[in-house]
Amino acid sequence: MKATSQKEEIKNLLVQVGAWQQGHFLLTSGKHSDAYMQCQRIMQYPRLGAYLANLLVDELQAENISPTVVVGPAMGAIHWEVYVAQAVADRIAEEDGFELDTGNMTKAVFAERPAGSEEFEIRRGIQLTPQDRILIVEDVTTTGGSLKKVYELLKSMGCTPVAAAALLDRSGGKVKYDVPFITLLQMNLETYEPADCPMCKEGKPVVKPGSSKK
Ligand SMILES: [Zn+2]
Repeated sequence: MKATSQKEEIKNLLVQVGAWQQGHFLLTSGKHSDAYMQCQRIMQYPRLGAYLANLLVDELQAENISPTVVVGPAMGAIHWEVYVAQAVADRIAEEDGFELDTGNMTKAVFAERPAGSEEFEIRRGIQLTPQDRILIVEDVTTTGGSLKKVYELLKSMGCTPVAAAALLDRSGGKVKYDVPFITLLQMNLETYEPADCPMCKEGKPVVKPGSSKK
């Protein structure tokens, strides 16, 4: 975890670009919340994505985690997974110089759900092996459901996830994995079952983030 000042800096950045939103939201998990992170609002800027990815790689290095492949669940983590893999690759190039050797290059791979399916797959002819040290990333962890599915998928393929990482863990540390879980920000944001939601009781209209063009 980062020092408070850096965490504040990251949070301010998220507010400034409109990624961090207040309101009454229906989350993917079906629960309601008064806060939402629309990460694409920040990920649309590669410079900001690279900045955050570099901070994450600092954290990984502090834990001696050196992935060779970064896998993220589509769609949400596609940009993020590339930024993180690029940051990992840049560190290696800083130390060893750049070589055009695809056998040793850091990979960025997304796991996707074919239309109509709830299960993730690695498609498009991408090959992963048991020798790959795989870091699974997502932008925001709420329940950890997507990352767990990707983790199980990789295990079922005989692969080795060595760690999981997120920009924001909004479960406040409640989500656990069988591997180290590295996060830049941790917040304990209240989520509610619709039946218990105080904002629903006040009659505030609920918004499904991502469905609006605003
Ligand atoms: Zn509600």
